[in-house]
Amino acid sequence: MIGLSFDVEPDFPPHYDTSKGVEGLGAITKILRKHRSDATFFICADYLDKNPGIIDLLKGFELGCHSLRHIDLTKLSPLQLEGEILEAVECLEEYGLDARGFRAPYASVNERVLKVVSKYFSYDSSLLFYQSLPKGVEIPEVPIFTGGKMMGVRPSLFKRTLDFPLEDKVYFAHPWEFGGMDFSLIAKRRRKMAVFGYKRENYVKNLEFLLKKKPVRLMDMLKS
Ligand SMILES: [Zn+2]
Repeated sequence: MIGLSFDVEPDFPPHYDTSKGVEGLGAITKILRKHRSDATFFICADYLDKNPGIIDLLKGFELGCHSLRHIDLTKLSPLQLEGEILEAVECLEEYGLDARGFRAPYASVNERVLKVVSKYFSYDSSLLFYQSLPKGVEIPEVPIFTGGKMMGVRPSLFKRTLDFPLEDKVYFAHPWEFGGMDFSLIAKRRRKMAVFGYKRENYVKNLEFLLKKKPVRLMDMLKS
């Protein structure tokens, strides 16, 4: 099974804190609708609060939570951590969104973070496919396979990710990679990726390639 997910957040954190990626979000949802494809969008609640118009773009897709602000949750004190997650939950509820899944900013979690997450969410999608849940944490996990930078490499290379011997593959990307933000700023930070043919046009090409494989929302990947 192939799962498709997007982390809806400020532009290219922690390097920028703008909202130009809203344009990229529009581009993504347009492509998904054209292909009648499904996906899960993990939203930073603070970002939603600043850009409430994105709700219209996201109608019909599964919405999850990408915490409140785009900060590393493992660095917070127990009190700050609980407050950060609770505020995110309340904010999404205020907008009438039913977020069952959670993905941590930078996919950075530990036992402490996941224990708090398990109190508020039905599943987590912060671990990478080769990681396992810490002992004592009980929450269904839909782990990440690859994405982000990888979605911007030359298509011949990207296609090979499908050959990887993993049954369930969860891909992810970000709105700011698809538009709005000056891509040369992103490419400059990811200079080493040039050797893999890294550029913006590839994001669209690789996404359209994935859509032909009929990806599903992450909720549909939960093992029953
Ligand atoms: Zn993120």
